[in-house]
Amino acid sequence: MASLHQSLRALPQVEEMLQKKSIRAFLDSMPRSAIVGEIRAALQEERERIRLHQVRFCGTEQLERRILARIEASKSPSLKRAINASGVIVHTNLGRSALAEEALEALMEAARGYSTLEYDTKTRSRGSRHAHCEQLLCMLTGAEAALAVNNNAAAVVLVLSEFAKGHEAIVSRGELVEIGGSFRIPDIMAQSGTRMVEVGATNKTHESDYARAIVDQTSMLLKVHPSNYRMTGFTQSVGIAALRRLANKENERREAMYGESGTRQENDRVREVLVYEDQGSGAFLHLDCFGDYAEPTVAASLQQGADLVSFSGDKLLGGPQAGIIVGSKRHIERLKKNPLVRALRLDKMTLAALEATLRLYLDPEQALRKIPTLRMLTEPAETVRRRAERLEALIRSKVNERDARISIVDEISRGGGGALPMCDIETFAVQIEFLRGDALSCDRHLNERRAAPIVCRLKHEMLLCDARTILNDQEAEEIADALSEYFSTLEE
Ligand SMILES: *Cc1c(COP(=O)(O)O)cnc(C)c1O
Repeated sequence: MASLHQSLRALPQVEEMLQKKSIRAFLDSMPRSAIVGEIRAALQEERERIRLHQVRFCGTEQLERRILARIEASKSPSLKRAINASGVIVHTNLGRSALAEEALEALMEAARGYSTLEYDTKTRSRGSRHAHCEQLLCMLTGAEAALAVNNNAAAVVLVLSEFAKGHEAIVSRGELVEIGGSFRIPDIMAQSGTRMVEVGATNKTHESDYARAIVDQTSMLLKVHPSNYRMTGFTQSVGIAALRRLANKENERREAMYGESGTRQENDRVREVLVYEDQGSGAFLHLDCFGDYAEPTVAASLQQGADLVSFSGDKLLGGPQAGIIVGSKRHIERLKKNPLVRALRLDKMTLAALEATLRLYLDPEQALRKIPTLRMLTEPAETVRRRAERLEALIRSKVNERDARISIVDEISRGGGGALPMCDIETFAVQIEFLRGDALSCDRHLNERRAAPIVCRLKHEMLLCDARTILNDQEAEEIADALSEYFSTLEE
């Protein structure tokens, strides 16, 4: 057996590999430094393999093949279409909501050529990009005014910066939410220069806790929807209606004390107390199928007296990534003038997709049918079962019965996206039990070896393809093809 030293010495130089014809061919379409980078990485990988397993150098030819594979991989897109067979509907890692056809068409139209993004055809002069969705948002939520920005995190930052910066905002200890991706309410408040005043206990907060905490510096009663968790047992939280009453009482007191216009300088004048809800998922329709655990609607929060409500465009709404703020006109007008709005504004493609998605909501029955997220959330289990049966038949037609045992099982889908955490959504999945190979290596194949990765669930050494989140028959075909391909890579 060759010594470790000899094996490592046998490795070629970077320059030697760069002279290979097959590798040189890429010099026309790639920077030399990028090719050298891939050669170095492949050499390093081989060096580690030799050290770890005490083996011989794999040979120049094998190394050349690996370098070529690396170069090919580096040239293929990084952001790819993916197939979601995980059963998590608003899957943040997979891009949250798939858009409705109508939204896609509007997006393409806006992107392909010029548009009236900031052009008013009546006056033939500059218009506002905020105008496109505002009226629809008002109609759908009952708000006086609305503004859409880059995402809900941006909306929260904007609202805090405008109304609570340098002042105090009161929030319940039970609502100090962390959303995935390191978005934490306490950190965001610190970042926007708002002093956070926590009230209540983790499990219980009472109206009197807020009442006691209100002082002259208080500028906001903040309510944060516990999107991705629920507290059960000995718990209590204070609703929007009660926060409204507290804010009204304090605002009346301040008015009586300081007068409408204020006797001090405008800058340090005590502001009014605002009721703001970060609603997170932001539902327009009350989904009765989720019973008591259905998410509250935006309209309900406004009706109960919130001055401002913000929510995401791509969670339960089923549109593009956006952060939508709705509420009273005078507050939204102030937000529109905040310099941050320019930094957080939406691009034309998103605006077009958002407007088209909102339009579908004008007819709720149509929204449920055409917006993929809503359809998946509400589709009856029987319909999902039929999709699972079609997938099962496709897989059976392509996978040898000696390779796997295939069946349909009832399972649970999830809302995902930090919404509906308590809702078990009844679903059907195709279950693959491996007679050759195994679930882990198959899962690796489906994720790493496909142009469009397929994301399934693993359970007890079996692979589950949840039919609820599979978008169409073509995706089902691809899943069947990928499984057949996996078994063909196994040695007899
Ligand atoms: C999801 C969520 C956010 C962040 O929204 P993005 O649109 O992802 O930026 C903020 N607050 C709450 C309560 C949420 O659920």
